[in-house]
Amino acid sequence: MNGTQLREFRKQLLTWFREFQRPLPWRKSRDPYRIWISEIMLQQTRVAAAIPYYERFLERFPDVQALAEAPQEEVLRMWSGLGYYSRARNLQKAAQQMVALHKGEFPHTWEAASSLPGIGDYTAAAILSIAFGEKDAVLDGNVARVLARLEAVRGDLRETKRWRELQKTAEKVLDPTAPGDWNQAMMELGAMVCTPRSPQCLLCPVSRFCKARKLGLVERIPEKRAKRTAVEVTLVAAIFMNARGETLLLPPPSMARKRDADDVPSLVSRMWHFPTLSAAKDPLIALRELIRIFKIAGKAPMHALCKVRHTVTYRKVSIFPFRILVRKLPGVQGSQTIPLHAISSCPVSNLTRKIAQAALE
Ligand code: SF4
Repeated sequence: MNGTQLREFRKQLLTWFREFQRPLPWRKSRDPYRIWISEIMLQQTRVAAAIPYYERFLERFPDVQALAEAPQEEVLRMWSGLGYYSRARNLQKAAQQMVALHKGEFPHTWEAASSLPGIGDYTAAAILSIAFGEKDAVLDGNVARVLARLEAVRGDLRETKRWRELQKTAEKVLDPTAPGDWNQAMMELGAMVCTPRSPQCLLCPVSRFCKARKLGLVERIPEKRAKRTAVEVTLVAAIFMNARGETLLLPPPSMARKRDADDVPSLVSRMWHFPTLSAAKDPLIALRELIRIFKIAGKAPMHALCKVRHTVTYRKVSIFPFRILVRKLPGVQGSQTIPLHAISSCPVSNLTRKIAQAALE
């Protein structure tokens, strides 16, 4: 694009964005704290799913100070259901660093922002441009796809060299007079018009600048990446129940350094969970092992519940849950006793939620 085309391109996209952008709750504010929370939530979560969490989270933790001071359990509880819990843990660590090093404020410089836990190049650029008007261009999968189509870039976009080129293109096209709006406009175009499948080129405000469209390559860009092969994992979970309808939850486990696909701590997202074991060979053998570990009497009534399915990145997990009625719940250090129906009041992963649901049904 020459200078005149670039000016026209920017004008078209910004005008479209200002007229048609979705009225999302985080767009009402330039508060870096709010923008930061929304950006982290949106990293692995769809907009519609993130909105209620965003609102509840801000109600409970209205500023950096409140987040930094909260018990981690409480932060995880407010995140419970969103998945990828390292995001919540990093949010709180970053809030604590902001209190310790930046007077409780989001730092204004790239170096300081990107050195906070959980804040990579993309998130730093998004927050600094939207909140402070810094001229930092964002590049994530959405924006990369848009740029690759505009420039008809072939090959795997995530390859280091190609990604760097895309970053340079993102910086070149960024409108320096409105970097925050510009970055959001690029993201909005990727989310609403230039979508991964069936992009709506007829409605695209910048279609006349698009090389992929001219060359008939829209459906071929970006090129498909080789998918990691799915791995099947089988687990057995014990829902011990006493006569009062209470069950036993084990505390968040620590993560092993080297993880296997069936590593229970990572599958329960290091959250509160039911006693669970990998059942690589036979679920009944794993069940017997659980009964032995928790010293359950051999004649305790047991019911096999419906199989639960869950996916964690490349792992397809099948869980065989068993409800085991006991007179007294096993005593385990650090564990908690909780009514089964109240499990959501505790920070648990979606996998644990699904098991609880199977037991309640
Ligand atoms: Fe994307 Fe189509 Fe617009 Fe090109 S014309 S940027 S492919 S929506």
